[in-house]
Amino acid sequence: MQAEIRSENKKPETKRKFDVIIIGAGPAGYTASIYTSRAKRDTLIISGILPGGQLMLTTEVENFPGFAKGILGPELMTTMREQAERMGTTIIDDEVVNVDFRHKPFKILTYSEEYEAEAVIIATGATPRKIGVKGEQEFSARGVSYCATCDGPFFKNQDIVVAGGGDSAMEEAIFLTKFANKVHLVHRKDTLRASKVMQNRAFENKKIQFHWNTVIEEVKGNQKVTQITVKDTKANKVETLEVGGLFVAIGHEPNTKLFKGQIELDDQGYIALKNHTHTNVEGVFAAGDVHDHRYRQAITAAAFGCMAAIDVDKYLSEHKA
Ligand code: NAP
Repeated sequence: MQAEIRSENKKPETKRKFDVIIIGAGPAGYTASIYTSRAKRDTLIISGILPGGQLMLTTEVENFPGFAKGILGPELMTTMREQAERMGTTIIDDEVVNVDFRHKPFKILTYSEEYEAEAVIIATGATPRKIGVKGEQEFSARGVSYCATCDGPFFKNQDIVVAGGGDSAMEEAIFLTKFANKVHLVHRKDTLRASKVMQNRAFENKKIQFHWNTVIEEVKGNQKVTQITVKDTKANKVETLEVGGLFVAIGHEPNTKLFKGQIELDDQGYIALKNHTHTNVEGVFAAGDVHDHRYRQAITAAAFGCMAAIDVDKYLSEHKA
């Protein structure tokens, strides 16, 4: 059966060959498509199961330039999608199940169709690890957050919990003390994985209280988070912390499973870039959190999307028959 692709004019299409296929529809993917489509490169986005990426799970976005009063995450992503379609990008809401980057044109298989492209941009992002406790999902974006830079300013003068013992947890806890009254740093061990310099900065910060050998048991609240139950596993003691939020900083999983064995990944599973946005496979590029574990912002992902699109355009000018 032929896949039904809906483009700007909403007419079903059956096209399967494109200049560029972008896998992923977060800020990196949409921005890349706006640039490639404007450069008259026939572009398909295969959006995956959560079109819009992580921003679909957030509420207010205050730090994306251009929106003086802020914008809701889903609204920002819908607007990016409309802009991509207006530029001529075809978007299909399907999931990629396999890729073949061994020969050109590259082949990309979704649940319902096989597509071909001269160039590919991987923009599949990364997924924050979840603790997996009761209430975590229920209160996501209602007090539970996976990004302090994004959501910290919403927690002015509140007590909050940060979970984790790595550099991200230290960095987020320190950052959050700018807004919060007090930060409870909850870590499951009695030693930190974070670098010494980050540990020392956190230890020196009077607003941070460490809870060692402690795990989060449950997130509770009404409209928003009001309490977190934690358990000291050594003392076998349960405590309820009266807090307004939980920042989970226990690492991210790059969405690269599909590309294992075909694209070079680094030791943490992120795509290893070779030269600007080029991967080790000529004609395959990457943009956003799928290779960037340092900045992880919507605006930096969008910027990487722009860079990848410009690299693709140059590549196609030099290589397309
Ligand atoms: P990470 O280094 O993998 O640390 C994850 C932390 O979360 C560990 O302390 C781990 O505990 C804990 N954890 C994992 N799963 C958990 C679970 N299910 N429940 C409770 N705790 C859990 O991740 P990261 O901190 O995001 O850092 C990722 C990389 O980015 C690292 O290489 C880091 O150095 C780098 N980074 C650097 C900076 C900086 O230099 N400023 C800032 C941010 C990140 P255990 O220790 O018990 O395993």
